[in-house]
Amino acid sequence: MGLKTFIQGWPVYRQLTGTDPLGRGAAAQSPRSAGLTARTETADGMARSVCPYCAVGCGQRVFHSGGQVTQIEGDPDSPISRGRLCPKGSASKSLVTSPLRQTKVRYRRPYATEWEDLDLDVALDMIADRILAARAETWEDVDEQGRPLNRTLGISSLGGATLDNEENYLIKKLFTAMGALQIENQARI
Ligand code: SF4
Repeated sequence: MGLKTFIQGWPVYRQLTGTDPLGRGAAAQSPRSAGLTARTETADGMARSVCPYCAVGCGQRVFHSGGQVTQIEGDPDSPISRGRLCPKGSASKSLVTSPLRQTKVRYRRPYATEWEDLDLDVALDMIADRILAARAETWEDVDEQGRPLNRTLGISSLGGATLDNEENYLIKKLFTAMGALQIENQARI
């Protein structure tokens, strides 16, 4: 590297001789930064979505390349969030791409200290058996004055905020049909 190139690469030199005398823009930019390109610029496309994490429902722009989600940013066109996302919403790309995402049923038996993988069919049978048993043990036909109740207080549902509208609709239908009253969602707590 020649002396002239070295000096021209010095931010103070660019600040004193260029169009950025306060050194808050191009003068302070390193060659590496100048060569970087935003992931959003090289994306194959973008789809509009809504952050799944809470009831605010901030608008998102989901950028993708090669069939993979590459970046998720706030949607400036959203009248709710106007381009903003909280830290959780900004990290929602990991919801679908994180290598730490659980893809198997995990189960910790009573008094066990370790988690184990469980076959999905086995897990579903265990859940169904426990729901049926809890419902049978706690079912209330009538109150003490003989008025109809047709309910159980032995079953409740607490949904996660990543459940979508359709899942919540079906959960509400299912649990109400089983006689449960306590049906809540994490986003309302
Ligand atoms: S989690 Fe954050 S980004 Fe997502 S909807 Fe709620 S406030 Fe908006």
